[in-house]
Amino acid sequence: MAERVIGKVRRVNGPVIEATGVTDAMMLELVHVGEVRLVGETIKLEGSSAVIQVYEDTTGIKPGENVYGSGMPLSVELGPGLIGTIYDGIQRPLEEIFAVSGQFIERGLQLPSLSRSKRWHFVPTVAAGDALAPGAVLGSVQETQVVVHRVLVPPSVEGRLVRIVSEGDYTVEEAIAVVETAHGAEELTLMHRWPIRISRPVKDRLPLTIPLITGQRVIDTLFPVAKGGTVAIPGGFGTGKTMTQHAIAKWCDAEIIVYIGCGERGNEMTDVLTEFPKLIDPRTGRSLMERTILIANTSNMPVSAREASIYTGVTMAEYFRDQGHHVAVMADSTSRWAEALRELSGRMEEMPAEEGFPAYLPTRIAEFYERAGFMTTLANEPGSVSIIGAVSPPGGDFSEPVTQHTKRFVRCFWGLDRQLANARHYPAISWLDSYSEYLEEVTPWWEHRVGPSWASDRAEIMELLQREVRLQQVVKLVGPDALPDSQRFVLDVCTLFKNAFLQQNAYDDIDRYSTVEKQVKMLAIILTYWRRGSQILKEGVTLVTLKQIKVLQEVIKMKFSIGNDRPEEFDELLARFERALDQVEAVNV
Ligand code: ADP
Ligand code: MG
Repeated sequence: MAERVIGKVRRVNGPVIEATGVTDAMMLELVHVGEVRLVGETIKLEGSSAVIQVYEDTTGIKPGENVYGSGMPLSVELGPGLIGTIYDGIQRPLEEIFAVSGQFIERGLQLPSLSRSKRWHFVPTVAAGDALAPGAVLGSVQETQVVVHRVLVPPSVEGRLVRIVSEGDYTVEEAIAVVETAHGAEELTLMHRWPIRISRPVKDRLPLTIPLITGQRVIDTLFPVAKGGTVAIPGGFGTGKTMTQHAIAKWCDAEIIVYIGCGERGNEMTDVLTEFPKLIDPRTGRSLMERTILIANTSNMPVSAREASIYTGVTMAEYFRDQGHHVAVMADSTSRWAEALRELSGRMEEMPAEEGFPAYLPTRIAEFYERAGFMTTLANEPGSVSIIGAVSPPGGDFSEPVTQHTKRFVRCFWGLDRQLANARHYPAISWLDSYSEYLEEVTPWWEHRVGPSWASDRAEIMELLQREVRLQQVVKLVGPDALPDSQRFVLDVCTLFKNAFLQQNAYDDIDRYSTVEKQVKMLAIILTYWRRGSQILKEGVTLVTLKQIKVLQEVIKMKFSIGNDRPEEFDELLARFERALDQVEAVNV
C-alpha cells in the first residue's frame, strides 16, 4: 500500500501524539509523523482520533501536521546481514546512522535495516515445480563463518515454485524465486518482513529436555535452564546482572545470541562492542560477534523505542529459530522496559495499577516470555528461543510488581544477593533463593551425556548447603567451637564448595567458563572430600588432621589451574586426593 495521509496532529505529549480526522488507519500501523517523517505506530484508534507512539524525539512537531500511514504494521527486516549488526529498538542500523548523522541521531532518518548493496552467495535447495509450504527452506547463505542462514519462504506464503535463480550472488532485494500462490504469482527475495508484535508461527511446541549450557557452574550445576526456557535474573544495582548476562552471551552453547541492551547505560553496550569481536567462541574458534546481534536502546534514547526493542529482538530470535537454530535472547533490563511502558501509559492518561504501572503489565510480560520455547519449525526442524531477562527492582526489593509478575511467567529464577555481591562472591546468585523448574527435565541429558550420578550429586550438595544454614544459626548462638567435628566439617565443605566451585571469576581466562565435564569432575572431587572425610572423622581422626591434607590446597585452586581442555588432570587430582585420604585413614588405624 502506498503512503497516504491518515490524519493530522492534534496534540503532542512527549513520545505520544494524538491525531484527529483519522479515517482509514489500522491498529498497530507503522506511521510517519510530520514533514520530518518521524517513525511511529498507532496504538489506539477511537472514532476519528488515534493515539500514536513515536519512536523519535517529537520536539518541533506542531498541531496540524500530517500523519502518514504506511499500510503495514511496525515490522523488522529478516534476511542475511543481521548477524554482527547493532540496531536500535526499531531495527535501525546504529553504526550507519552514526556515520551519516554523527552522535545525535538525525530525526526522521530512514536507513534500511539490511544493506541494499551487499551481495550474498545464495545456494538454492529447491527446484521449479516443488510445492512450497509456509516457512519452507529455499536455500542457504553462509552469513558468517559460523552461521548458515537458511532462506525461508515467508510464513504467509504458500504455493508452487515457478522459478528459482541458480547459485550466485544476490542482494536482499533481488527476486530469487517466484511462487504461484492462491492469490497469484509472488516474488520472493532473500529477506522478508515480519511484524514485531506477532510471534512467528511454528508447527509444534516440544518439551524442554536439553539444557542451555552457560559455562557458569552455579547455573548449569545448581539451577539449569533448558534450551527454549525462560529465566529472570533479579538483583539490585551492582549485584552482577549485566556481568551474568554478558557471561552467558559469551559462553553459552546457543548458536545465535540476541543481546538487547534496554534502558541501561550506554557504556555497557560499548563494552560489548569492544569486547565481543576480540573474544573467541570456544566451540567454533571464531569471533563471538559472528553469532551475535545487538540491540541498543540505552537510557539516553527514546523510551518508546525501548518499549519496542524487546519485540524487535525476540522477532529476530524467532526468525533464526525458524531456520533450525538454537537462539538465546538476553534482555537487560526488563525493568527499564516496564518503566517505558509506565511512562507511555501515563502520557496516554490510562488508569494506573500497582506503582503506576498499567494494568496490562502482567499480560505484556507473559506475552514476551511466551515467545520462548523449543519448537518444531514450519520446515520440520528443531529450533529454540531461550529468554533470559534481567530485572532491576528499585532498592533491590523483590516484592515490587515487575519482579513479582516476572516470577509468575518464568520457570527459572537466579536471584542475585546483595550480601554475596558485597562479599565479592561472584556470580552473586543465591543458592537459597534461586530455583529451576527444568531440573527434572534436563536430568536425563546430564546423566546420559556427562555423569550418571548428576542428579544425586547435585541433590547431596544442595542438602549440605541447607544444613549449613541451620548450623550457622547455631554458630551464631554458641560459637563454632561448640560444634562437634562432624558438624564443623559440614561448614568446611560448604565453604570449600562456595569458594572452589560456586565463585567464578569472569575476568580469569581459565575460570570464565567451565565445560560440563569440568563441572562434574570438580563436584565429584568436592563430594569425595565430603563422603570420605565424614567417614574418616567417624573413625576418630580429628578435623584438624583431615584439613592438613596438602592436596586440599590444589583442590581449592583447581578452577584456575586446570583448563577446560585438560579434563584428565581432574582425574589425576582426584586419584592423588584419594591416596592422601587413604593415608590419613591408615595412620589412624
Ligand atoms: P548490575 O548490572 O547488576 O548493576 P554489574 O553486572 O554491572 O551489576 O556488576 C557490577 C560489578 O560486579 C562488576 O563491575 C564486577 O566488578 C563485579 N562482578 C559481577 N559479576 C562478576 C563475576 N562473575 N566475576 C567478577 N566480577 C564480577
Ligand atoms: Mg547492569
